[in-house]
Amino acid sequence: MDKVNVLGVDFDNKSFKQFQSEFSNRIDSHQSTLVVTANPEIVMTANENPEFMKILRRTADYITPDGIGIIKAGKILGTPLKERVTGYDLFVWLLKVANEQKLRIYLVGAKPEVLAAVQERIGREYGGIDLVGAEDGYFDDDLEIIAYQIKQKQPDLVFAALGSPRQEQLLTLLRRDRLAALMMGVGGSFDVFSG
Ligand code: UDP
Repeated sequence: MDKVNVLGVDFDNKSFKQFQSEFSNRIDSHQSTLVVTANPEIVMTANENPEFMKILRRTADYITPDGIGIIKAGKILGTPLKERVTGYDLFVWLLKVANEQKLRIYLVGAKPEVLAAVQERIGREYGGIDLVGAEDGYFDDDLEIIAYQIKQKQPDLVFAALGSPRQEQLLTLLRRDRLAALMMGVGGSFDVFSG
């Protein structure tokens, strides 16, 4: 089965390796791509927020099962998913790809000191990455302004750590504009990565 529906959200039933291969192809061919890594909380939010459900149904290119609760739900429904694919694991893998291919990346979200620590670690461990922009997640501007600033930098990868649904709302603006980047909401990943 290609998709597994859990409470109205269609998860892509692919292994981590399959996601890696498809994302690599889309990065190489500069396709605009929105990846949502959905945990049970995100599924519940979507069921309470029709606008967010619309993003998941119509705008997201990929929805990965981020959490053991989703894997369990798939089993109980009789439509098991291949494996858990977390935002954090994808984030770390994408940084490696960006490092090897010297990609342009843009970071938005988290507290200023967390973001600074993420930038510092990237600078130290991923010298090949071209960090074209970084903005903490405690801005007063509308998401449209932030989206405009991101677009100006023409990144290959955009990571948004604002929590859901806000991070997906921001990336949806970029996806609808067909920004030629792979974009992913990463929740608390910057906090974890910063140590
Ligand atoms: N965050 C942010 N701006 C806000 C609220 C949250 O940048 O106005 C950041 C927060 O600092 C954290 C990230 O969003 O780095 C994810 O937050 P949370 O842990 O709530 O999300 P989850 O991982 O549960 O989706």
